[in-house]
Amino acid sequence: MIQQIDHIGIAVKSLDATVPYYRDALGLGEPHIEEVASQKVRVAMFDVAGVHIELLEPTSPDSAIAKAIEKKGEGLHHIAFKSNDIAGELKNAADHGIRLINETPVPGAHNTQVAFLHPKSTFSVLTELCQHPESC
Ligand code: ZN
Repeated sequence: MIQQIDHIGIAVKSLDATVPYYRDALGLGEPHIEEVASQKVRVAMFDVAGVHIELLEPTSPDSAIAKAIEKKGEGLHHIAFKSNDIAGELKNAADHGIRLINETPVPGAHNTQVAFLHPKSTFSVLTELCQHPESC
């Protein structure tokens, strides 16, 4: 089942330009930074009481984040729900007629398994489901 909002994904052109706003002006502290090769992004994660702000910087022009920035500019990109049964969530969504981007989970940041629902069937909100290794 879905347990909480895991993170809010924000597409940015440059982590170097964006991190100081969240770290210093909002005072969220030092982010955890990592590269997720499978998604062609570099990610900065700020922990806000268990919900993360995830800044996504494309590492390649053919990354989905690069394309999103090209189309809509920087800004809110997706919302991610944490689940302890991502395969079950995908089946449930599909059973309710929701189009899946990922039929099966793929590796995300921080050793998570993630899968996306298509914004065409989620009222334009790109929706991610994620499962953390401790709940696999
Ligand atoms: Zn995400």
